[in-house]
Amino acid sequence: MDCLFCKIINGDIPSECIYEDEFVYAFNDIDKQAPVHFLIVPKEHIKSADDLEEKHNELIGHIFLVAKKLAKENGLVDGYRVVNNCKEDGGQTVGHIHFHVFGGRSMQWPPG
Ligand code: AMP
Ligand code: ZN
Repeated sequence: MDCLFCKIINGDIPSECIYEDEFVYAFNDIDKQAPVHFLIVPKEHIKSADDLEEKHNELIGHIFLVAKKLAKENGLVDGYRVVNNCKEDGGQTVGHIHFHVFGGRSMQWPPG
């Protein structure tokens, strides 16, 4: 399948992996927007948050616990932001669902 993140998960494209288990793969974003910026990606190819189904409930919960664990490991004691960009208006540029984790600085609100 011609999917950038599937290729990263399979190792066909190199990445800075920071965590991997049976269900997810996490790696540093190539274009860091904060001192800490990594992506958590399910190994299952799901196009976007708009393609989630009931069967994915546990997977999404797992992703947030992985975010919490990796935030702790990266010293984000004052907090962090988890972002999912969904489809075109949400700013999604890679068509494999992923969750950004940003930290190491104070975040702005609202988003642009
Ligand atoms: P989004 O705009 O929410 O779809 O996020 C896609 C993210 O993937 C962007 O933050 C990109 O910087 C990141 N990205 C694209 N290609 C790579 C890559 N080869 N390795 C790591 N991150 C990447
Ligand atoms: Zn994919």
